[in-house]
Amino acid sequence: LQDKLDKALHNISGRGKITEINVAETVKEIRRALVDADVNYKVAKDLTKRVQDKAIGQNVLTSLTPGQLMTKIVHDELVDLMGGSQEGINLSDKPTIILIAGLQGSGKTTFSGKLANYLKQKRSKKPLLVACDVYRPAAIDQLKVLGGQIGVPVYTEEGNLNPVQISENAINFAKSNSHDVIIIDTAGRLAIDQEMMNEIRNVHQAVKPTETLFVVDSMTGQDAVNTAKAFNDVLNYNGVVLTKLDGDTRGGAALTIRSVVEKPIKFISTGEKMEALDLFYPERMADRILGMGDVVSLVERAQEQFDEEEAKRLHKKIAKNEFGFDDFLKQIHQIKKMGNMKDLMGMLPGVGKAIKDVDISDDSFKHIEAIIYSMTPEERRKPSTINMPRKQRIAKGAGRKLEEVNQLMKQFEQMGKMMKMMQGPQGKQMMQMMSK
Ligand code: GDP
Ligand code: MG
Repeated sequence: LQDKLDKALHNISGRGKITEINVAETVKEIRRALVDADVNYKVAKDLTKRVQDKAIGQNVLTSLTPGQLMTKIVHDELVDLMGGSQEGINLSDKPTIILIAGLQGSGKTTFSGKLANYLKQKRSKKPLLVACDVYRPAAIDQLKVLGGQIGVPVYTEEGNLNPVQISENAINFAKSNSHDVIIIDTAGRLAIDQEMMNEIRNVHQAVKPTETLFVVDSMTGQDAVNTAKAFNDVLNYNGVVLTKLDGDTRGGAALTIRSVVEKPIKFISTGEKMEALDLFYPERMADRILGMGDVVSLVERAQEQFDEEEAKRLHKKIAKNEFGFDDFLKQIHQIKKMGNMKDLMGMLPGVGKAIKDVDISDDSFKHIEAIIYSMTPEERRKPSTINMPRKQRIAKGAGRKLEEVNQLMKQFEQMGKMMKMMQGPQGKQMMQMMSK
C-alpha cells in the first residue's frame, strides 16, 4: 500500500502548482492503491471523495508544497476512518471478564497470552487464563505453555466439553483466588458456522463479559471484514484485535473494519513472542501506511505561519534581482515564527535522532539580525552598494567583527544566486530530484 500511495502522491509532489485535473488523477490513483490493499471499494471511494473535496476546497492548488499538503489530507482522512484516537480496554469490573472470539488460526490463544502478560506487566493485574477450546487437547496445552512462559495460571477442566460450565467454574475459581481479570480463550472454526456462533453466544450470555474482543488475522484481507461483521452481529463486541501485522501484511483490513462494524481496533499483534503486542493508535497506523515520520505536523505548522502572498512577492523580487536584506530579515522572522528550530528540524524524517545532542539555539540568528539592523534602508535595498568603508561602519554599529559582515555578505550573495536558479528550469529539475 505504501509504495502505491507513495507513487500516487509523488505525482503531485515536486510540482510548483497542480491543477484540478491533477487532483482528480491523483485521487483516482490513491483509490486504486487502497482497493488493491483490500480496502472495501465503497470505503475507499468515500474516503477519496472527501480527500478530493478537501484538496480543492483548501488551497492545495496554490500551495507551495501540494504533495505534502495532499499527504496531510490523506493522512487525516485515514486517521478519521480508523476512529481518531486510541481506545483502551475497560478494566473497571471486579473481576473484569474478557472474552476472546474469532476464527480458528486467527491468533486468539496467542493474543490471550499476550494480553495476560500485558495486564500483569503494565497494568499490575493478577490475571487468570481460561482454556475453553475444548475440542482439541493441543489447544489447551498451547495455552498452558504460554501461561507457563509468562507466569500466569491457566484454568482447565480436562474432559469437560461444556465451555459455559468451564467459564462459570473458572469465574468462581478466580474470585476465591483473588484474580482480578479473567481471560477466556475460546474455540474457533475455519469459517463461520452456526454451531460455533451458538457456542460463543452461549458463553457470552452466561458470563456477561466486561469486554468481548474479536481477534482477526489481518492477512485475510476482505474476508476479515466479513468475519468481523458476522461476529459483531452475534456478540456486539467491544473491540477488535488485528493480528499478524508483522509480516508483509496489507493494511486494508485496519482501514475497513472500523468503518464497517463501527467498533474500535484496540490492539495490534505483531509477532509470535509474548511481548509483540501494541495498543492501536490510528495516528501511528496512518503514519505507518503513509511512511512519513512527522512531516505532517511540520506541514501543519508551516501552513499556519506561511504567508502565501508574501511568498509570491518574494518570487517576483528574486526574478527581478530586487531581493534585499529587508526581505532576508523577513525570512528569518518567518522561520523563527515557525517555532523552535530544533523541534522543527527534529520533525524531518531521519533528522530527529541526528540532532538530538546538537545545540541549535534560536539565538543563532541574533548576530545576523544585529548586522542587518546596522545597515541603512538604502543599503538593505541595494546590497551591492555596500563597500569596504560601509562594511566597517556596519560592523562597528552591530558590535560584530568585520569578518562576520563579510561572511554574511557572501552568504547572502550565494543565496541570491541559488534562489534564482531554483526558479529556472534547472531548479525545477533539482527539486524533482530532491523529492525522490
Ligand atoms: P487461534 O486458533 O485463534 O487460537 O490462533 P493461535 O493463537 O493458535 O495462532 C495461530 C498461529 O498464528 C500460531 O502459529 C501463532 O504462533 C501465529 N500467530 C498468532 N499471532 C501472530 C502474530 O501477531 N504474528 C505472527 N507472525 N504470527 C502469529
Ligand atoms: Mg486457540
